[in-house]
Amino acid sequence: MQKKWITARTFPDVVSAEVCKTKLESEGIQCEIENDELINMNPLNAVAYGGVKLGVKIKDAKKALEIFHQLDAKEIYNVTEEDKKRIENNKLQKIKNYCPNCGSLEIFREPISKRAFALSVLLLGFPIIFKRGKWHCFNCKNNWK
Ligand SMILES: [Zn+2]
Repeated sequence: MQKKWITARTFPDVVSAEVCKTKLESEGIQCEIENDELINMNPLNAVAYGGVKLGVKIKDAKKALEIFHQLDAKEIYNVTEEDKKRIENNKLQKIKNYCPNCGSLEIFREPISKRAFALSVLLLGFPIIFKRGKWHCFNCKNNWK
């Protein structure tokens, strides 16, 4: 199976990654922050998770790198306080997931189902990466898909 997405770049924080994502999207490049769920849980640990990873499709990688190069030249990462607020607001508006049991927003989705990963190695001899795992609620301990 061909892997279609690669990590184009890692960032020390979510805001820089979001700025870059917006820029790439405005250039028609589809991209996504790969580990935003982990980072959102604990933004201060972004570095511990290996940084905020911005993924693009392989066919777009070359163009993405050119855009990164232009962005670096413009020092776009020196975002203003206003930019940060705007990005944070956008993020909040995107939160539409909540616990179906108690309505809490204190939820977390496993990035990879480790059990499914281990099982696929056992049964098939090679790992199948499951991109999304189950949701967990910290409030009522509910689990759901
Ligand atoms: Zn709950």
